[in-house]
Amino acid sequence: MKQVNTRYITCAGDAAGREALKEAAGLLRSGALVAFPTETVYGLGANIFKEEALERIFEVKGRPQDNPLIVHLPDIQAVKEVAGDLPREAQLLAERFWPGPLTLVLKKKEKVPARVSCGLPTVAVRVPSHPMARELLVEAGVPVAAPSANISGSPSPTRAEHVWKDLSGKIEAVVDGGSCEIGLESTVLDLTRSPPVLLRPGGITVEQVEECLGIKVVISGSEKNKAPASPGVKYRHYSPEAPLYLFVGPGGTVEEKMREHLHYWLNKGYQAGIICSEENPLQYAEAVVEKLGSRRDHKQMAATLYNSLRNMEARGVEIILVEGIPEEGLGLALMNRLKKASKEIIRGK
Ligand code: AMP
Ligand code: MG
Repeated sequence: MKQVNTRYITCAGDAAGREALKEAAGLLRSGALVAFPTETVYGLGANIFKEEALERIFEVKGRPQDNPLIVHLPDIQAVKEVAGDLPREAQLLAERFWPGPLTLVLKKKEKVPARVSCGLPTVAVRVPSHPMARELLVEAGVPVAAPSANISGSPSPTRAEHVWKDLSGKIEAVVDGGSCEIGLESTVLDLTRSPPVLLRPGGITVEQVEECLGIKVVISGSEKNKAPASPGVKYRHYSPEAPLYLFVGPGGTVEEKMREHLHYWLNKGYQAGIICSEENPLQYAEAVVEKLGSRRDHKQMAATLYNSLRNMEARGVEIILVEGIPEEGLGLALMNRLKKASKEIIRGK
């Protein structure tokens, strides 16, 4: 793999900051790989019209060759350049949720290279709301393919330092924009099927999408619906290196089960980690404990999850026990990531 010097770009809101962002946009346009902050997670950007840059995305991430990329654009006009005229549902959703954490799968225009969509006749598009992402996209003036800026399979990066750890020496630049506000990837909705299919839960909830469209959507991979899934969802994802056990069930019983398992692993001499809500009473000096926030505040929990998973790794945790939450609202996306990351799901009675 090509070794490169990675630039670390910080951009305050002053003239020097704007200049730095312009430089990053120039790099992106010319075919370099530039990681940048979005409201969901950090993206690894490449100009979609630079074939070598697209190939390098797959190479530096170790991304499966058949997992298509989301194209990031500054506004709806730019979206029409890659996806043609938008169907009515896309217009409704775009008006309501863009800029924001919603990705729409639409028919693609011919000029979108097959490498972006991995040969599919569709393209996934999103208009991010993070001010630096928007400025970068406007300045770059080209559609930007941007999967999460991490090694495939590891937890997605929600801080510039996470990107640095995974990709320094492999990409040309990292733009530091602080912590990502949402901290989970975007919702992916396929509008080429009717009714629309939710391919991945994310920052915009199913309830919000259904309320906006006035119809029920099909949830891919759910027990009731066996709609064909998106190529990317079949891969193990978002996983820390240590095995993760996810605990679900009624309050009280979950804590009891977690306590039992914790004792088991501690007795075996393992360095154990616990990720749980503030309300969970588990407190162990022998274990590394990360509290994500209140059970009633899924937003806060989502924003801290990936950072907590990475902290566990950094602190040498060998086994991770995580308290599940109800699968409603943002809880659906949070639990989707945790289930994918987990080795086993353990139910309290
Ligand atoms: P990420 O790797 O986090 O950027 O995730 C991108 C997600 O969008 C993956 O689950 C992909 O499978 C999905 N995706 C991207 N493009 C398409 C497409 N054209 N059709 C269906 N799913 C797509
Ligand atoms: Mg990813």
